Amino acid sequence: MNIHEYQAKELLQSFGVPVPSGSVAYNSTQASQVAEELGGNRWVVKAQVHAGGRGKAGGVKVVSSLDEVKKAADAMLGSRLITHQTGPEGSLIQRVLIEQASTIRDELYLGFIIDRASQRITLIASSEGGMEIEEVAKTHPEKIITEIVDPAIGLRDFQCRKVATAIGLKGKLMPQAVRVMKAIYRCMRDNDALQAEINPLAIVGGDDDLRLMVLDAKFNFDDNALYRQKTITEMRDLQEEDPKEVEASGHGLNYIALDGNIGCIVNGAGLAMASLDAITLHGGKPANFLDVGGGASPEKVTNACRIVLEDPNVQCILVNIFAGINRCDWIAKGLIQACDSLKIKVPLIVRLAGTNVEEGRKILKESGLTFITAENLDSAAEKAVAIVKG
Ligand code: GDP
Ligand code: MN
Repeated sequence: MNIHEYQAKELLQSFGVPVPSGSVAYNSTQASQVAEELGGNRWVVKAQVHAGGRGKAGGVKVVSSLDEVKKAADAMLGSRLITHQTGPEGSLIQRVLIEQASTIRDELYLGFIIDRASQRITLIASSEGGMEIEEVAKTHPEKIITEIVDPAIGLRDFQCRKVATAIGLKGKLMPQAVRVMKAIYRCMRDNDALQAEINPLAIVGGDDDLRLMVLDAKFNFDDNALYRQKTITEMRDLQEEDPKEVEASGHGLNYIALDGNIGCIVNGAGLAMASLDAITLHGGKPANFLDVGGGASPEKVTNACRIVLEDPNVQCILVNIFAGINRCDWIAKGLIQACDSLKIKVPLIVRLAGTNVEEGRKILKESGLTFITAENLDSAAEKAVAIVKG
């Protein structure tokens, strides 16, 4: 689960991390009121969408009058922001963050991710903040510093000093850097985040009062831990998520919308990926990724069909089940139930293998409904592609 920048900053602030004074606004009148209350004479108006690259796309505006705050907020709110992370349809801007503008002396990068190889949280830092870290990694890999955290003792001061030195921090900024890094680490760990990215971590202030300030923060949380993270769960913005994906997760299904026309119902993420590959190999385009998981009841299969069919682009459904914990007879019953209750008009290509396969095939055959059956994944994918290609 992702949260907005303003929520991430509130969270970080509660861990003692310095962020600019600011507040979220839902309309332009509110936006200029917030700016007036903040005081000062320069503000930043920032589109709140769950995507990066807002700066380049016009989603971050530095302005110097209350009227300009209002105008910038007006222009953003209700419009769609298209960044390299949103896809061509963009994201609808429904909230803006108004902050006191900072005068930036330098922009740094700080990120915490879970490194799967070491199975530990890893601190990533760079002196090249403000730009995409992927780009820095490509062009200046030597400018990416990493430090692995031992979970038993947490992030240590010496590690922070080592990283801070490597990205050019010294003097009064050194103890601040240690405090900031440790606070972000604690914030990530205590809230079950999978990722925390601060880009930029800015150096602001005059020569005799240099300070570190978090100007942008992106967090991603572990969905499997949300049951114990009430504060985080309350930050969820369903507007930012695909409604079908939300509905699917409510039914214990793992659904990801894609842009093709072959609907997929598969068990297991690996087999689902293989099915998408097989479809692509035969020249087709999958409409979605859907993993029904293990022990899928007929009801779950029916729900899966309904969610897949809510996508108007779907011209046929490929059902690919390799049953271990699953039962082919339950899958077959679910498909028949779905055909009955959803009045399915599109062809269903069904490949069943594994537990209770004979029973499953028998149920499909005796149902009187037309299913296109396939012996293996390859031929199932081939048949599905042939159908959509007419
Ligand atoms: P992103 O493009 O979605 O990552 O949005 P950011 O919040 O990182 O903003 C993009 C860029 O806008 C930053 O790298 C800064 O250069 C600039 N920016 C953000 N906040 C301020 C600010 O308070 N003052 C100034 N001058 N620039 C800012
Ligand atoms: Mn940023």
